[in-house]
Amino acid sequence: MIQNPIPWPGGAKCACAITFDMDADSLIQIARASDGFDRLYPISMGRYGPTVAVPRILETYRRLGLKQSFFIPGWCLERYPDTIEAIMNGGHEIGHHGWIHEDPVATKGTPQTEAFEKALDAHQRITGQLPQGYRAPVYNVTQQVIDLMIRHGLRYDSSLMADDVPYAMQTSEGRLWEMPVHWGTDDWPPFAHYDEIGYMMPVRAPSDGLKGFWEEFEAQYEAGGFFMLILHPFLTGRLARWNMVEKWLEETLNSKDVWFATLSGIADHLDAITQAGGYTPRTEQLPYYTGPQE
Ligand SMILES: [Zn+2]
Repeated sequence: MIQNPIPWPGGAKCACAITFDMDADSLIQIARASDGFDRLYPISMGRYGPTVAVPRILETYRRLGLKQSFFIPGWCLERYPDTIEAIMNGGHEIGHHGWIHEDPVATKGTPQTEAFEKALDAHQRITGQLPQGYRAPVYNVTQQVIDLMIRHGLRYDSSLMADDVPYAMQTSEGRLWEMPVHWGTDDWPPFAHYDEIGYMMPVRAPSDGLKGFWEEFEAQYEAGGFFMLILHPFLTGRLARWNMVEKWLEETLNSKDVWFATLSGIADHLDAITQAGGYTPRTEQLPYYTGPQE
């Protein structure tokens, strides 16, 4: 059971978001800053995302009538303009995912503020709008990033793990929605195999790696909750894996009472039902701590 289930639009039993983090080759450029530009294997592995996987994913979404959320580093917005245009033409949302996938914990202070704002500029310039949401590279949100989001008018984060369903985060400066992630619905553990950035996971068969996601969905569906996948085009956009996700989408749309939405669409809904007095979200007060604990 879920303590505080959210009433979804049209009485749907579960909200669903299949989100993608389109990191492309920003991962190797930031991980090996001095020579990543000449490591052609990881560059090519990353480029598979915007050039091969995203068009495949967008075609599935178009055919099924789905609008979904993509989180993209500002550097990738500049590097892959045709892909960005295709995502926008499909009516999808593009969220903030850092400048070049820098880890907020490793870039505290001025470097993080500069990277965050440089990415905002890229969004404005390339998509014509400011992002409504943010997902931290490697989920590593800091209080500084929370404060930057609030200061720049973002409406939600999607990097933290304190509940099963979306919840509110309150600071002295303002408030954000959290669209919570967790490792059981992320494709990195079953499919990432990437020595250069420190991951050597045993790659699982498509059906085996995806199976855990569908079990997570069943539990959320039964509880009237929120099911979100955190996927990467260069991992789950591969042919066999995406064929299975596509089949699951078709079966789910045909047989279940679900609401597929962008995360900004879910934020809209949460704003509407809380302002109308129909729902009181659970709220986490931030910062959690202001210094080392002894
Ligand atoms: Zn990422």
